[in-house]
Parts: sequence; structure tokens; C-alpha cells
Amino acid sequence: PLVLGIETSCDETGIGIVRGRTLLSNTIASSMDEHARYGGVVPEVAARAHLEALQPSIEAALAEADVALADIDAVAVTSGPGLAGALMVGVGAAKALAVSLEKPLYAVNHLVGHIAADILDADAEPLEYPTVALLVSGGHTSLLLVRDLTSDVEMLGETMDDAAGEAFDKVARLLGLPYPGGPQIDRAALEGDPKAIPFPRGLSRASDMAAHRYDFSFSGLKTAVARWVEQHQAAGQEVPVADVAASFREAVVDVLVTKALNACRDYDVPRLLLGGGVIANKRLRDVALERGESAGVTVRIPPLSLCTDNGAMIAALAAELIMSGHEPSTLAFGADSTLPVTEIHVAPS
Ligand code: ATP
Ligand code: MG
Ligand code: FE
Repeated sequence: PLVLGIETSCDETGIGIVRGRTLLSNTIASSMDEHARYGGVVPEVAARAHLEALQPSIEAALAEADVALADIDAVAVTSGPGLAGALMVGVGAAKALAVSLEKPLYAVNHLVGHIAADILDADAEPLEYPTVALLVSGGHTSLLLVRDLTSDVEMLGETMDDAAGEAFDKVARLLGLPYPGGPQIDRAALEGDPKAIPFPRGLSRASDMAAHRYDFSFSGLKTAVARWVEQHQAAGQEVPVADVAASFREAVVDVLVTKALNACRDYDVPRLLLGGGVIANKRLRDVALERGESAGVTVRIPPLSLCTDNGAMIAALAAELIMSGHEPSTLAFGADSTLPVTEIHVAPS
């Protein structure tokens, strides 16, 4: 099926077109620059930017895929989770499009969309299931067990407070580095020693592991970095930014990879799929590949353009749903900022 996907859950307006498992186009307009002076995504600003970007993005995606709107077999949209106001813009546009084209509409789960992105990686062998998936971005840090992409996805754990990308953004800010923080911390860490400062690994103590084996927490780490920096400043010492950045990054990477590989071992799943914008972090990719190899786990990392928020992954998930015989959504659904991962698509009740 030829599917057009609309993604507006955060600050990317993503329109993607797929034919079955083949990617035809993937246009992404980001309002990230507009959020830079606030140090994080501002929901109202993101929603207005989606409204402005949608129409030209749809046209650009159609042109790039070289298809006409009338040729589309189905429309797909992110129903949640994400920022409510931002989601609503995409949901409204998708409903209008589906009604006017008289085509089926699939309202899908954003997190499962991130997993579906892997299907579009033309250079890789098809992903086998079950697989463990680690999704890390500015808005989420989730560890999932995927037994079947269209019918069986389980949330093993998620962050109790800040998302991993958010932690990068906040620590960059307190080191005086601009938004988005991930690339800035990466650059600052180049000359630093990752072992210089033993920053805490959240929810990793034996006492935490019983109830939170697969959950994450980054706010304690952020506070520890802030306190370390303050103490050095109070003592009149220069803050070794490179060492702080490298040690902070190591703490994040260590806990992400350790918990993901724990899940692989516990569930006897020799596959780990990575997704989300924080995958841009080379240290994270390297450590995951290295430790995965010694644990006998194959680590999959799709190209970054498919890892960050995009419309093609939403279209890809809908195409899978169609090919496996799932019914389209009715128009009764709305934006659901806390849509659970078990709701892979908003099915008619
Ligand atoms: P969502 O959470 O809905 O997927 P988002 O817009 O918050 O969307 P992405 O666009 O996928 O997330 O990723 C942006 C986040 O990734 C930011 O928090 C940014 O700091 C982080 N990031 C980008 N590059 C790097 C990097 N090299 N290292 C670490 N973090 C990075
Ligand atoms: Mg983003
Ligand atoms: Fe996302």
C-alpha cells in the first residue's frame, strides 16, 4: 500500500511516504531553532510551527516521492504519546486529508513508530523478532520488548523523570553550552577523561534494581553535576568542562547500555534495536556495539534520519498494520499525550 504518514508529536513536522516497506520520501521541518533561546521545546511554539509547516511539507513529500495525493491508499498519523497541542495539529490535518480523499486512516503509536523505522533501512536484513528496543530522545527514554511489531509490544521500563536527551540539554545549559545540548556535550567531551568524576548511575543500586530493573532516572545525575560544578566554582577553581562533559556522558551511556543488555539477557533475546535522536551520540553507539558483541547481542542502529522523529516511520507502521490485516481507526480518536505502548494503533472499539 502507498501510505502517507504525518508526525507532529514534538518539534519535528515529519511527512513520509512509503510503498509497503519501501521509503519514497521523508521530509522533516524542525522548529528546534525557535526553541533554542528557551533551552527546550516550548509546546505552543511547536504547535504553531506545525500548522505553518504541514501544507508545504505534504507537497514537498509528494513531489519527492513523485506521487499524486489521489494515489495515496491510506493516511497515517501519530496519535500519541507526545505534546498534546502539537499532536492535535497533525491529527486534525490527517482526519481532514483522509475524509477528503475518502481513504482509511491509521492513528498510530509514536514509540512503536520509532521501531518501525528500522523496516525502511534498505541496507539491512529484515529485523527478526523478538527484539529489545531502546528509544532515547529529548522526550523519551524507553526500553521495550517487541515480540510482534503490529500486535505485541511491551514496555519494560522508562525514565522516572528526565529523558536522556533532556539530561544532555540541562547539563549543557549549566555548563554554559547552547541548546541542543547533546552535540555540544559531545564536542566538549572530546578532550575529557570519562573516568575523571564518578557521577551516579541512576536506579542501578541493588536496592533500586528490584523494582526498577529497566527504569531510568537522570535528574539525580543532573543534580550531581550541578553540585560538583558549584563546589568547584565556590572554591575558586576553574571548572574542567571537558572532564565534566566526558564523565557525565559516560554515566548516561553506561546506564542505558547496561539496562538494555540486562533486558536482552533476562528475556534471552539476542537483538537490540536503538532509536531516537540521542543515537546521534557516537559514544553511545560505540559502547552499545562493543558491549553487545561481548554479550552475544546484535545491535541494530538505523540511519539517523530514521532515528529522529519523522513521518516515514509512522507511514511504515501503518503499512505493516494494513499488510497484516488490521482495521483502520475510526474518526473518533483524538490526540493522546500518554497513549500506552500496548496501544500500537487506535483500533475501532
Ligand atoms: P521525541 O522525544 O518526541 O522523539 P525530540 O525532538 O525531543 O523528540 P529528537 O529530535 O529525536 O528528540 O532528539 C533531540 C534530542 O537528542 C535532544 O535532547 C538532543 O540534545 C539530543 N541529542 C542530539 N544529538 C546528540 C548527541 N550527539 N549526543 C547526545 N544527545 C544528543
Ligand atoms: Mg526533535
Ligand atoms: Fe520520538
